[in-house]
Amino acid sequence: MDIPGAGTIITALVAALGLAVGSFLNVVIYRLPRNKSLVTPRSSCPGCGTLIRWYQNVPLLSYVILRGRCRGCGTRISPRYPLVELLTAVLFLVFFWRYGISVATAGFWFFSACLVAVFFIDLELTIIPDKITLPGIAMGLGLAAVGDHLDFVSSVLGVFAGGGSFLLVGWLGSKLFKKEALGGGDIKLAAMMGAFIGPVRIFLVFVFSAVLGLLVSVVVLAISARFRRERMLPFGPFLVLAALLVVFYGQELIDWYWRHFSIH
Ligand SMILES: [Zn+2]
Repeated sequence: MDIPGAGTIITALVAALGLAVGSFLNVVIYRLPRNKSLVTPRSSCPGCGTLIRWYQNVPLLSYVILRGRCRGCGTRISPRYPLVELLTAVLFLVFFWRYGISVATAGFWFFSACLVAVFFIDLELTIIPDKITLPGIAMGLGLAAVGDHLDFVSSVLGVFAGGGSFLLVGWLGSKLFKKEALGGGDIKLAAMMGAFIGPVRIFLVFVFSAVLGLLVSVVVLAISARFRRERMLPFGPFLVLAALLVVFYGQELIDWYWRHFSIH
């Protein structure tokens, strides 16, 4: 950048865009799995029905000023709202710093928005909506066709490697445990991730999500009576965490593996 301060201004704009998209994702996370329109009606307090004015809907800031409560009735606003906004802004910044002003950045912004929405929807309701993953697969393939972060063939292979491996594990799991181990939503989510990151990295996601899922299951099994009863933990959030880990550290992990385990 030649103009002094331009970098700072662009960074601030990207952060603001991330916050705004995060604010929209809060609407998606609440309304999409409940089959409600994303556009109408305007947001209102679930406690007293008071419409939320635009100046009470400024990402992060409103939550801090209102101290996490509705001004009308004092109903607590979930800390998920500012968390989603903050998280989205951070992801937008990180992808911008990595890919600059490019097709890849726009694509990975879309990717991270999908991941944030899936993470919180699956965590709350154990659902991964097709309305996110199917357009996500198309977007991943389209991005590979026009961008230069991944070639198109790898993107196609990624879809099959992601979807296929989870289909196989789900099938094996249902044979072994006589119950559904992985839902169709997980399979489509893995296919979507494959479209963005290709077959090698989706394999890493596969390994890390399984390890993460196993570790967390052991802990949750020890502390939650509800989990001991139901034996159900959404798998989507582990896939999301593993995918972000692989997107940011995939190359380091692959290099490390070759240094330590390849036969020279
Ligand atoms: Zn209220």
